Amino acid sequence: MVDVQIARRGVHDVNVLNAMRQVPREAFVEPGLEEFAYEDGPLPIGEGQTISQPYIVALMIEAAEVKPGDRVLEVGAGSGYAAAVLSRIAGKVYAIERHPALAEIARARLAALGYDNVELRIGDGTGGAPDAAPFDAILVAASGPKVPQALKEQLAIGGRLVIPVSEQRWQQSLRKITRTSQAEYREEDLGAVSFVPLIGKQGWAENGERSASNHVPGRSRGHTLPEMIAHEAEPLPGLDEPAFGALFDRFAGKRVVLLGEASHGTSEFYRARGAITRRLIGKHGFSIIAVEADWPDAAAVDRYVRHRAARAQTERAFQRFPTWMWRNTEVAAFIEWLRSHNGTLAAERRAGFYGLDLYNMSGSIAAVLEYLDKVDPAAAAIARERYACLTPWQKEPSTYGRAVLTANYRKCEQVVIEQCRDLLSKRLEYARQDSEGFLDAAQNARLVASAERYYRVMYYGGAESWNLRDTHMFETLDHLLEARGPDSKAVVWAHNSHIGDARYTEMGIVREELNVGQLCRERFGDQVALIGFGTHTGTVAAAHDWGADMQVMRVRPSHPNSYERVCHDSGVPRFLLDLQEDPAVRKRLIEPRLERFIGVIYRPDTEIMSHYAESSLAKQFDAFVWFDETTAVTPLGPERPAPGVPDTYPFAL
Ligand code: SAM
Repeated sequence: MVDVQIARRGVHDVNVLNAMRQVPREAFVEPGLEEFAYEDGPLPIGEGQTISQPYIVALMIEAAEVKPGDRVLEVGAGSGYAAAVLSRIAGKVYAIERHPALAEIARARLAALGYDNVELRIGDGTGGAPDAAPFDAILVAASGPKVPQALKEQLAIGGRLVIPVSEQRWQQSLRKITRTSQAEYREEDLGAVSFVPLIGKQGWAENGERSASNHVPGRSRGHTLPEMIAHEAEPLPGLDEPAFGALFDRFAGKRVVLLGEASHGTSEFYRARGAITRRLIGKHGFSIIAVEADWPDAAAVDRYVRHRAARAQTERAFQRFPTWMWRNTEVAAFIEWLRSHNGTLAAERRAGFYGLDLYNMSGSIAAVLEYLDKVDPAAAAIARERYACLTPWQKEPSTYGRAVLTANYRKCEQVVIEQCRDLLSKRLEYARQDSEGFLDAAQNARLVASAERYYRVMYYGGAESWNLRDTHMFETLDHLLEARGPDSKAVVWAHNSHIGDARYTEMGIVREELNVGQLCRERFGDQVALIGFGTHTGTVAAAHDWGADMQVMRVRPSHPNSYERVCHDSGVPRFLLDLQEDPAVRKRLIEPRLERFIGVIYRPDTEIMSHYAESSLAKQFDAFVWFDETTAVTPLGPERPAPGVPDTYPFAL
């Protein structure tokens, strides 16, 4: 935690790093949350409060220049964690917490660890601890409307006060105030942060208003960020109106337009992407739709929309968890449109529907074998032998990595790579017989090789498997663009976490994960548009656990410190925000905030830990599409297709 999350992000004070290494953070979180103790995020500690993010604790202590022997005050002791870290550097620490229950637990934790140079007090810390002043350093772990005068006065000359201040509740900055003489102070702004409110006489009142003693009559509130967003936002027309798609014509000149989503189960996101894509295909010559779905499953849809024959033993598409992600009425309507649009075009101009993902390894193996059976039966026999190595794991590939590592099963790496190479080396010979079929088989062979590696490294968790998957997705897109020629243009549908440039999110900065959006920017530069989607509340189709049944769940209103909340506070119910347009809005939306990510799993009870991460919205995306209230997708029922629907229909049972 210290090396990856703190030192690498620029905290270098050796005292701070050593103190962070000494204090066991798991001793300061609630029972049951220990497994999250070393992740870099805030965690709940009861009374609606949080233990601060480790990086922020380190940053504040470094900024306050706490040195051995110092006398330090902390306001907002919460779990006692920051006080514990401070106590490993300073001579004496006074810590104040307003919630008696939290203070008692913190006291017990500090005592159990034997940290006896901390005095924990209960009360309103905005008045400081005059009897113990002056302090060499004061740290405040909650954000007030202004710097409390009492705290400034309790600094020693040369003393440092580090405190988040929020003139508006949604916009906080970390300030450092140094007392340079009896009457003079120097103030520095250390950047945007997000803290719980400082409640007290010189903070906020319980109801969120400024406390009476802080009220400055006639003070101008200026332009708030939600007001700026409201001004810049372009309201969205109805989803079925042609004007909806036309609003996105500004991206028509790009080679790749990537459309995100903030969950895998929200109707508006699918319908909006459908409307934008119809426009890009119908009016602007886009011919590739590449989606976050498995290649062999999407290939069944592709054959349907391009009026091609079904494969002999077609496995029905999208039969495995999470079925609702693609088997839903919104996607089905888009597919019908695409089929009928393609019906008006010559075969070579028809737009194709492709899957970028690598989870359906068994489907890909079957597809390679079926193809080789047709074009080269002798090669098919060799491929069968090679792929037999993976046979025991085809149903549960996630257990392959574990078995290979722990039980000395054979690693299948070499044989699947050889198989892929053999197939690609016969490109000319095979493609002469059936070029569309060759593209499909080659991609399936690549997928088996990527999936073998993916499942092997997945056992370790961490960034490598994520990076492998997103690299595979990007390379698949690249192969598609290449296969379709230099003028080809693609629309990508994938989750915001794959599309928003990872370099400007916690996943990239802290976990060293990359993604498709980042790789596209690196490869195609400004020929790429990354468009994120978001919502405040409503319903979503998701499961509580992997493999569990889909449910329609309520989405909690967005977190007060999130981008979603500033969009909600703009009061505009549905909009497009071009993040390249207005430099003032862009600047404000570069400041890091929380962003919500709901996948196929949604856990409202642990939402802050499971679904929020810090990011820089205006760097992550080129534009943001907002629906304040959204509804769950409608999964397709088990019914068979209506009479007359062709037997290539991919969503039949
Ligand atoms: N440093 C803490 C830790 O490591 O767990 C972080 C605690 S949390 C971010 C901020 C805490 O400030 C909350 O526990 C809250 O109850 C407390 N707080 C808010 N206003 C306060 C005040 N006026 N006086 C004392 N504590 C206050």
